[in-house]
Amino acid sequence: MTDTPLLSVRNLKRQFGKAGPAAVEDVSFDLAPGEILALIGPSGCGKTTTLRMIAGFEPPDHGAISLRGRDITATPAEKRGIGMVFQDYALFPHMDVARNILFGAREKTPQTVARALSMVGLDGYGSRYPDELSGGQQQRIALARSFAAEPSLILLDEPFSNLDAALRHATRREIRALLKNAGIGIIIVTHDQEEALSFADRLALMRDGRIVQHGTGQQIYDRPVDAFVATFLGRTNLVPGTARGELCDTPLGTVRLAAPAEGQVTLSMRPELLELQAAAEAGNGRVTGVEFKGHDMTYWVDCAGREMQVDVMNGPRLGEGAAVDLSLRGEAVVLRDPA
Ligand code: ATP
Repeated sequence: MTDTPLLSVRNLKRQFGKAGPAAVEDVSFDLAPGEILALIGPSGCGKTTTLRMIAGFEPPDHGAISLRGRDITATPAEKRGIGMVFQDYALFPHMDVARNILFGAREKTPQTVARALSMVGLDGYGSRYPDELSGGQQQRIALARSFAAEPSLILLDEPFSNLDAALRHATRREIRALLKNAGIGIIIVTHDQEEALSFADRLALMRDGRIVQHGTGQQIYDRPVDAFVATFLGRTNLVPGTARGELCDTPLGTVRLAAPAEGQVTLSMRPELLELQAAAEAGNGRVTGVEFKGHDMTYWVDCAGREMQVDVMNGPRLGEGAAVDLSLRGEAVVLRDPA
């Protein structure tokens, strides 16, 4: 990482119409050169609007955007030098693939076309026309076209949405490797959480126009700040407890906390961190459902009137109605109350 961020976004706000909440409210983050950031969050939380402001398609009502330390808040989109591959990746239909790629390219040579096509695994497709390509191929050509312009930052809005599952996985891996090689910074908007986790270095999780949590996938998964984050990224059990420092009394018994707290709290306990044992006596829970999922099983367990999910890889086979002892491996995460 260098000291100057590639992109710096400060206090961005965008309100459509006079009344109602803003689409984007006080969004700030930095992107290092070559870093990949995924913007995720429920539909309507402001991801695309944020991307469009960075691209220059949407004027912010407030805030500033700078690229390599230069303020570009008022710079027209075409002068920003930012690459874009949006959902409607529109290629020019009357131009063949080669001319599409060369359209915004810095160097207009046959090598530029060959390199860009090879990057997306479509060598030899230069003379095809867009209507002779599948949706997924068009999407890859749109990516190739953005690489040819050699931008330092590319914005991707659901760039793999037209690819089937297998191709999507492979393309994503290739594109990631190649972007990393080229040191291009990326902001990607995606609805696919697995895609966000595997493609990006860091995630910014948005809700109601604001970034609720920002960090690596692992940081957010392991230490979600609130119940919204804990349930948006992965599955979890929300459990009430009474905290006293590092320990907390819960229906499962006393558990350790990731950070000290006091009084009534809500905890997040991931299903794979819970353990089940057949109880000799009554136990603290009762199996109410069993779901076989191939590589693991999910048990549904009633614990003091609360339904808990427990993921078990190689555990005892327990049937419905079995009395169990439920315990937590590791630490529970204290969630903050929703703002
Ligand atoms: P999705 O995941 O569904 O694409 P998103 O997180 O990208 O959603 P945005 O498209 O940024 O969300 O929209 C944020 C909010 O702003 C929504 O409530 C949307 O209805 C509103 N909005 C977006 N564009 C406009 C517009 N041009 N005029 C009025 N309202 C808009």
